[in-house]
Amino acid sequence: MGPKQKIVFAVGVSVFGTIIIMAIVSAIPGMFIPLRYFGVGIFCSGSISTPVCVLLVRQGEENRRLRQELELRVAELARLADIDGLTGLLSRNAFLNRAGQVHRQPDNWYLLIDIDHFKRFNDDHGHQTGDAVLHDVARAIADALRPTDLCGRLGGEEFAACLIDCNEDQAERRAELVRISIQSLRVRAPTGGTVRVTASIGLSASDPAQPIEASLHLADLAMYAAKTGGRNQVRRAA
Ligand code: GH3
Ligand code: MG
Ligand code: MG
Repeated sequence: MGPKQKIVFAVGVSVFGTIIIMAIVSAIPGMFIPLRYFGVGIFCSGSISTPVCVLLVRQGEENRRLRQELELRVAELARLADIDGLTGLLSRNAFLNRAGQVHRQPDNWYLLIDIDHFKRFNDDHGHQTGDAVLHDVARAIADALRPTDLCGRLGGEEFAACLIDCNEDQAERRAELVRISIQSLRVRAPTGGTVRVTASIGLSASDPAQPIEASLHLADLAMYAAKTGGRNQVRRAA
């Protein structure tokens, strides 16, 4: 029902109610109300209820509009809280939450991706270039994964991915794709020119019997093995 219909309905109920009450009272012996007073009753109830109904319906409509706006803002805030502002990937908490939700499913794999010598980008080209590298690496990771996989920035220059429902071969191939995708980047430095990036990647199978932290820890160890093994490579957890 639209606002106008609501007002007409409410005023109608008020006027009709007044007529009914007057008719009942009029039927009581000794309380007869002449017909012309019914006109007065209708006029009074109509003239009082109309502005009151208009006010209430307007207020109701305003409340409805504010509630809708609030719901949109809350949804937007929840979305923003889940997103890492610099890269557009999931934030650390959102990644851990979402990966935690699918952790009990079999055949998931975790990737821990750490940019090699990232500090040099900041030191040699400035923080802005470091940020541009983070942004482009995030895109490269997301491009190499399937839309169903999860992907987040854990902090600094460290990213994580959860490969959903794949076997060992597929997981290794996807991890290698991520590595190549990062290696192929030519990041435009705001100071001019381009910089090249590589990353070391640790891969571990999810173990639904263990907490998610245990699988991520194994991927972390594998990532450090990739670092000490010469960087720009994928290592599988033992
Ligand atoms: P390694 O190959 O061993 O991983 O070396 P690394 O230089 O990548 O690692 P290290 O931990 O030495 O340096 C990480 C640097 O990342 C230090 C910190 O200043 C920088 N950093 C962390 N967060 C951000 C960020 O949001 N933006 C930028 N530009 N730099 C960041
Ligand atoms: Mg690093
Ligand atoms: Mg690091």
